[in-house]
Amino acid sequence: MHLRLTEEQKLVQQTIRKFVKEELMPLENEVLKNEREGKPSLSKEKVQELRQKAKEFGFWGINTPEEYGGANLGQMMLAIVLMELSKTFVPFSFGGSADNILYYGNEEQKKKYLLPTINGEKKSCFAMTEPNAGSDTRNIKMTAVKDGEEWVLNGEKTFITGGNEADFVMAIAVTDKELHDKTGTQGVTCFIVDRDMGWKSEYIDTMGEWGPASLIFDNVRVPEENILGELHKGYNLGLEWIGFARWVVGAQAVGMAERLLQMAIDYAKERETFGRPIADRQAIQWMIADSAVEIEAAKWLVLNATFTLDQGEDNRHLASIAKLYGANMGNRVVDRVLQIHGGMGYTRELPIERWYREARLWRIYDGTDEIQRMIISRNLLKGHVKVGQFI
Ligand SMILES: Cc1cc2nc3c(=O)[nH]c(=O)nc-3n(C[C@H](O)[C@H](O)[C@H](O)COP(=O)(O)OP(=O)(O)OC[C@H]3O[C@@H](n4cnc5c(N)ncnc54)[C@H](O)[C@@H]3O)c2cc1C
Repeated sequence: MHLRLTEEQKLVQQTIRKFVKEELMPLENEVLKNEREGKPSLSKEKVQELRQKAKEFGFWGINTPEEYGGANLGQMMLAIVLMELSKTFVPFSFGGSADNILYYGNEEQKKKYLLPTINGEKKSCFAMTEPNAGSDTRNIKMTAVKDGEEWVLNGEKTFITGGNEADFVMAIAVTDKELHDKTGTQGVTCFIVDRDMGWKSEYIDTMGEWGPASLIFDNVRVPEENILGELHKGYNLGLEWIGFARWVVGAQAVGMAERLLQMAIDYAKERETFGRPIADRQAIQWMIADSAVEIEAAKWLVLNATFTLDQGEDNRHLASIAKLYGANMGNRVVDRVLQIHGGMGYTRELPIERWYREARLWRIYDGTDEIQRMIISRNLLKGHVKVGQFI
């Protein structure tokens, strides 16, 4: 067992850190200003420019299989990259990747959807949630009825990330009601649906800086060849998509919290009350200490969850633990850091309030806190996982 990064991994981490510091952090004021004026965080030209630089840095397709032109660095390395990227709120992702479930497409689908997504020519989104089926994913009602060589989709999806911008959606719909009513997990199918097949999207305003969308399907006709995976077996694809995102939340929380903790330390040393820096006060020191402890704990949970996945082992239990703890840690740290900054922390002059709003989402999407607790306890109570099984 070796609990340190290799020289090669360290090099990747340091290079990303440099990219974030030199290319992204200088844009923070511009992003705040744009968002507060209701404009996109960054202009299209700026995003293009950044992507070009990312390519020059050699980090395009960081986690894409080599056969698709990527670097395939593995999930643990991706977690380390995300921790670095999340030290800034400037929205940026190294492109050249696609949703995990798109790799299940057949050759034709890979040509039409996977490759253009990897190349950045097409944008995707994934739609499971409906107005009456969020945590309770088994309750989805969107229907797909076969008519000749096509399926006709009707229903509404909601809270779909990227739904307003996407060129196509991977939507889960009921294809065999009887089977679905009986099992809850079978009789649903994942369809790849191009926007020009007729679905409409509507932006949902949230307390965050980017909004998901509602998608309306009104007799949208989808050809049979657009079924992703197997007919009636789309539920597992849905769970796989959601499962991937779980530890990602933990990694994002670690990056944000490290940056915020450093801000709190700097401010505490500088800000004086009653003739002494607030850093001299035990109340402040304990907030700093508790935050540091929790960040380290979350970091190791994320690394363990991703390391396990890289070994080809089932990491779902660990991913739920990393998500639950990471999301809550992020919320506690941003709250303490705001407190340490006093009134200034509450202003829009500093970005803390922005992170505060963003972090709140982590406890809701990709499975709420309560759902993660249900999963973790169910695994233990049913004996799927044994106490102390992993190390
Ligand atoms: C910004 C944003 C982006 C999103 N992006 C996507 C996306 O791209 N694709 C997608 O498909 N979905 C997406 N979602 C949906 C998200 O996954 C759901 O909002 C989430 O799963 C919760 O479902 P819900 O909102 O219906 O809450 P509900 O399921 O109605 O839950 C309400 C409350 O009850 C609790 N609760 C529910 N059931 C139980 C139980 N059995 N025991 C105890 N407590 C319970 C919940 O934890 C929660 O606190 C997104 C949501 C948001 C806000």
